[in-house]
Amino acid sequence: MNEFSKYEQQEEIEIKDWSKTLEPTFRDSYHQQNEVLVERADKNSAKVRAIIKPSKEEAADFPKGFFVQMESVLEAKEAGPVLNSGNGQIEMYDFNCKDVQFLVGGKKVNFSEILPDDTNFVIKQCPTTDRSYGNGFYNPLTKTIEITTFSKIDAFFTLLHEAGHAIDFFNKGVNKGGPEVKTQDELSKYTDSRGLRDIERCAWAEALKIARAKGLPTKQIRKAMKKSLCGYGLK
Ligand SMILES: [Zn+2]
Repeated sequence: MNEFSKYEQQEEIEIKDWSKTLEPTFRDSYHQQNEVLVERADKNSAKVRAIIKPSKEEAADFPKGFFVQMESVLEAKEAGPVLNSGNGQIEMYDFNCKDVQFLVGGKKVNFSEILPDDTNFVIKQCPTTDRSYGNGFYNPLTKTIEITTFSKIDAFFTLLHEAGHAIDFFNKGVNKGGPEVKTQDELSKYTDSRGLRDIERCAWAEALKIARAKGLPTKQIRKAMKKSLCGYGLK
């Protein structure tokens, strides 16, 4: 029996619960204009359409009317931690994302066309204070891109970067044609400062390749890249 079974008879409540659960992923206080539409597909899945517009401070950096829209079917995976929010306690769920599609400044970006076939896409919900990483993360061992927040324009650029990691590990670019990384031990080679520098740079290079191929604005991606590499001390 899954966690949603208790709402079986009460569709309205289930929809409310989904949106409440997804709020920490899709909303923040500086981007009030974001919209999230969650429609029930069946008991365990829903369709989400999230629109991110630049904040007032960011608006000058983007063309007028620019927004990033994400569409995906979300399937509840497993219950995570309980988060205390302004709305009381929220049970957090991880969601499998299927058919992840974006509309970026009018350009369509379909992640299933970009990513290696066996790449998973997961909304990993965790309280922001517990996060040791930013909006996203790529785990080469499970071949999973994890999104933690999708509430700022930057989050999309992070996702492109995580897609870059997925492509880079798939092409074995980081280990120069060597074997696939399958264990934590093999992965540790890439987490020392030199390994990290290589994989971070490669992932951004792949992100820029995707952006160019899809006709996305690369100026902002370069900015995000600089910020990210500086954060790693890798300028
Ligand atoms: Zn990275």
